[in-house]
Amino acid sequence: LSRNTVTELTRFFLLLGLSAFIGSLFGAAQLFALFTSIGISLFHIVRITRLEEWMGSSQREVPEANGIWGKIYDHLHRNQKRNHAQKKTLAAALSRFRQITAALPDGVVILQRDHIIDWCNDSSKRLLGIRTPHDIGQPITNLIRIPAFSKYLKKNEFNETLQIRSPENEFISLSIRIVPYGKDQSLMLARDMTKINRLEQARKDFVANASHELRTPLTVVNGYLEALAEDDSEELKRYSMPIQAMREQTLRMQNIVEDLLVLSRLENSATFNDTEKVDIAALLNEVYLETQKLAKEKNQIVSLNSDVKHLVLGNHGELYSAISNLAFNAVRYTPVGGKVSLSCRDAIDGIKISVEDSGIGIAPQHIPRLTERFYRIDTGRSRETGGTGLGLAIVKHVLMRHNARLEIESNVGKGSKFTVFFPESQFLNDSDDVTKMS
Ligand code: ADP
Repeated sequence: LSRNTVTELTRFFLLLGLSAFIGSLFGAAQLFALFTSIGISLFHIVRITRLEEWMGSSQREVPEANGIWGKIYDHLHRNQKRNHAQKKTLAAALSRFRQITAALPDGVVILQRDHIIDWCNDSSKRLLGIRTPHDIGQPITNLIRIPAFSKYLKKNEFNETLQIRSPENEFISLSIRIVPYGKDQSLMLARDMTKINRLEQARKDFVANASHELRTPLTVVNGYLEALAEDDSEELKRYSMPIQAMREQTLRMQNIVEDLLVLSRLENSATFNDTEKVDIAALLNEVYLETQKLAKEKNQIVSLNSDVKHLVLGNHGELYSAISNLAFNAVRYTPVGGKVSLSCRDAIDGIKISVEDSGIGIAPQHIPRLTERFYRIDTGRSRETGGTGLGLAIVKHVLMRHNARLEIESNVGKGSKFTVFFPESQFLNDSDDVTKMS
């Protein structure tokens, strides 16, 4: 028993004993004890009702009381003070959070279960067209009626951002990010990407235009150089070396310009114009035959191992350029007498096409950057073998357009393995109507 219980019980029995003693002086001990018990019960009933009234009222002052009731009121008062202080801190934090998010240029929306709008900041009105308080309590999909957005929410995988046009102003492009938190709650962030996208587009246009403008002069220069190279007259003989060097350099420039134009075209059109059924086995066979021709000069062994029969939805030319790029790289970065293996096999949820070589390999720190434009580990070696530094950037773009991805594994001095993963969603059955799907 606790100290309080013992004290209260002692007090109760003492009172009972005392009243029984006084009662016995009058020959009515039991009656006195009974009255005392009733009195004590009435006292506690009055105290309980007063407590209930105090708790229900807004009165902050604690009623005066002694004994156990005094302690109860003390506890309650202390709890009440603590709660009040906590409430104040929370309210201050909430108000600070609202002030900060209201000042943010990004749209911030708090979504409850089923993507119901719970709260949003001022920028959400400008970027997403959410009106408060009218739209609070509505599902966000009622306001942003964009199929890609509904699909993004349904998919429930929020590692990547979604690019959409603002439902409020079609000239604003938005990057949407969802951050789930708590139970069924999420924070939706909408960032205005219009300026960044415009800059990016200006960069792409510049590269495309510059490459296009360079194409004709380069063709002319190369034409003249070719004519000069073929001219075996005496007076040109002593210039044959510089003419040859100039031809090689113009050819290199032409290759770079062509690759830049390919990249610009890939970047500027999110989807391809001509969607085809691409027979992966046949495509690999084509690449194999071309690789064999190239590898012959270096005495390398090329092998092909493929038993898949899938048709993939895509563009044959682009896919051929991507896979052949990987295979030709394998030949270029593998010493004389090495091995290059092409293979295609079924994988979970898709197929994997691999190009493996027994070449020079790639150190781990370079791997994440290989698909950047002009990223070369050894610029000299790349140039020597006719590289532009744009091959893997083109591969990456082509694969992105086909919902495929590239995985690179390598060991320095032992070789590299470039694997292309095609998801099942890209597969086609013979009966599928390509025109409908594109
Ligand atoms: P490049 O025209 O220079 O080959 P790529 O974009 O095709 O440009 O490749 C980028 C760089 O990646 C190359 O310069 C080379 O250093 C490296 N690389 C590509 N494929 C291989 C490979 N199979 N083995 C070793 N290094 C490779």
